[in-house]
Amino acid sequence: MVKNVFNSLLLFFFSFLLISACNNKSSVPVSSSTFQLSAAIEKPKKLDKKIKVALVPFSGVDASYATLLKSEIEIFYTCDITILPGQNLPDFAYYKPRNRYKADSLLKFLNMKRPKEYNLILGITNKDISTKDETHEDWGIFGLGFLGGPSCVVSDFRLKKSAKDINQLHERLIKVVLHELGHTFGLPHCSAEKSCLMEDADGTIKSVDREEKHLCESCKKKLPKGIK
Ligand SMILES: [Zn+2]
Ligand SMILES: [Zn+2]
Repeated sequence: MVKNVFNSLLLFFFSFLLISACNNKSSVPVSSSTFQLSAAIEKPKKLDKKIKVALVPFSGVDASYATLLKSEIEIFYTCDITILPGQNLPDFAYYKPRNRYKADSLLKFLNMKRPKEYNLILGITNKDISTKDETHEDWGIFGLGFLGGPSCVVSDFRLKKSAKDINQLHERLIKVVLHELGHTFGLPHCSAEKSCLMEDADGTIKSVDREEKHLCESCKKKLPKGIK
């Protein structure tokens, strides 16, 4: 009897350790801004070979985005994009107090849904998304991506605000997607050039509008082989 209780306690203790370790591993932001979360979780293998990216439109997002983004991404980064069937946003990511979704949870959800033949997975949503940063418990963002993969998510919710027209909205969306994918390819934020796509947006849409669909030479050098 005593032995059984002891074994149960031991099992509980090891389970707790395991859960704690997993949580720590996947929720340590290196940087937090409107654009980025960088954290070291399971890196996609063979990133220097042929890179396959899955694109998942979440329910409610503009139906034209998937094909627009596929062609833009494939021109910018030489990788293969496959559009997967749409997904509902998971309930566990919903943050009721602000009527929005926790981007960190969406990244984990996307990685769970990633078929193993894909190195990376990108989710697009029209719902507001947020993350925790150094000074804010819940901070609205444009997108979030893990440094070195395997998942990133982008929302057009904040990109629509003050957009002059549909063309500007599309430009913003494309730039944020290329930026977040840059993180998943291992690119950190860059301060070499104001126009570099990997500049930290620092929370403003003006930064997104100022950036160009362009990576500085320093960022290009950091990209895995086969992506340039
Ligand atoms: Zn970023
Ligand atoms: Zn750069």
